[in-house]
Amino acid sequence: MKRVCVVGAGLAGCEASWQLAQRGVRVELFEMKPLHYSPAHRSPGFAELVCSNSLKAEHLNNASGLLKAEMEKLDSLILRCGREARVPAGGALAVDREVFSALVTRAMEDHPLITIRRERVTKIPAAPAIIATGPLTDEGLCRAIEEIPGMSRLHFFDAAAPIVLKDSLDMNKVFAASRYGRGDGNDYLNCPMDEDEYNAFYDALVEAETSDPHGFEKKLVFDGCLAVEILASRGRKTLCFGPLKPVGLVDPRTGKRPYAVVQLRQENLEGTLYNMVGFQTRLKWGEQKRVFSMIPGLNHAEFVRYGVMHRNTYLNSPDVLTKNYALASDPSIRFAGQITGVEGYMESACSGLIAGLSLACRLKGREEPSLGKETVIGALEAHVRTRSLDFQPMNANFGILTPLQERIRNKKERYLRLAQRSLTLMDEYNKQLEESE
Ligand SMILES: Cc1cc2nc3c(=O)[nH]c(=O)nc-3n(C[C@H](O)[C@H](O)[C@H](O)COP(=O)(O)OP(=O)(O)OC[C@H]3O[C@@H](n4cnc5c(N)ncnc54)[C@H](O)[C@@H]3O)c2cc1C
Repeated sequence: MKRVCVVGAGLAGCEASWQLAQRGVRVELFEMKPLHYSPAHRSPGFAELVCSNSLKAEHLNNASGLLKAEMEKLDSLILRCGREARVPAGGALAVDREVFSALVTRAMEDHPLITIRRERVTKIPAAPAIIATGPLTDEGLCRAIEEIPGMSRLHFFDAAAPIVLKDSLDMNKVFAASRYGRGDGNDYLNCPMDEDEYNAFYDALVEAETSDPHGFEKKLVFDGCLAVEILASRGRKTLCFGPLKPVGLVDPRTGKRPYAVVQLRQENLEGTLYNMVGFQTRLKWGEQKRVFSMIPGLNHAEFVRYGVMHRNTYLNSPDVLTKNYALASDPSIRFAGQITGVEGYMESACSGLIAGLSLACRLKGREEPSLGKETVIGALEAHVRTRSLDFQPMNANFGILTPLQERIRNKKERYLRLAQRSLTLMDEYNKQLEESE
């Protein structure tokens, strides 16, 4: 059997390589780091998380939680490494990004069927291949992709939030707590604001200078990752119902719920770094220091990384991709990850999982099983090959699943029923897979 060339050792590329190799298929995994870095990547390790260290919710009444449960049933490497690198984050799965990347890198290096090539790819590789080069695909390869008949490139802008040093925080002002006492009850560091502090911060934020990337337009920003200053520009109180919402938090010093709260989430296992939750931004770095230092507790904060904003490229996939992320003109070539129009870390990994698993079936001459829109994995896969007037990236959410036949008014109950239905189908899919192997 021919080796599969996987391009890009990000979340999708590593998951795809793992799924192929675990099914006995040889893989040659190409990664351009550390020879070349995209504007957002910094470390030579694989599966680098370029912004938040959260892989989102884990409970089943949330679509991200259901996606994880589905991926667990398919032996997802990214999920397993995520759980091993876990740091406290209430009901969410957040990771120490360096430990996480090291675990994934080791799994790739140690697998006897995976060969690693540290090279920048500039041409479409010969089939069989999986292209998983992400939203910041290197320009040479982008041009080669655009030459595929029918292919066109779309883009939007994505942002990363700042990280601060814990030692530089004023712990007399900051308190540890999780919203509604979830997780260990004190997983986040919280910076409480009274109304005057919030108003002063708000005024400074909306007036601060931004570093607009070339051609930046508000409408191109992905709604799930809005820059904090854009959100603020929608109204004085918008942040109080978004990333700065105080619900479920009580300041132990006053015994009251603050007017607004900035939450900091643990970034590494040692607990020395914290990231500012929901503070992805395109403010100039000097402005970030000035404005964010107005937040109580951050007055002397040391920023180890400032927020940045980047162009995020994806394909007009409905024109060129077919079932299981296969290129319509050559199904032995697949695309995977954010470049296909799924949005998010786990969503990218899940598309790599399906691309790898289904290509392995094809190479073995077996029928490719497919998942329906009753599962989050299947609904995301269907999204990228379904034509629409305005094709946009999609993250895990219950709205993309086929609705239940019966009407259940209670949202929590409805979501749990959707989850049960999905996990039953996942078991059937797994059985089909086992029978075909
Ligand atoms: C700035 C920014 C912030 C984001 N923040 C979040 C967030 O907070 N939460 C979230 O869920 N999602 C976020 N995303 C979206 C998305 O989840 C991530 O981009 C995710 O890493 C995508 O996974 P991937 O495997 O598709 O690509 P990547 O993880 O980017 O992996 C692609 C890999 O391919 C390599 N590569 C690229 N071109 C070549 C080439 N020509 N030859 C060889 N190797 C190449 C790259 O070096 C990289 O290692 C963000 C995206 C951006 C751009």
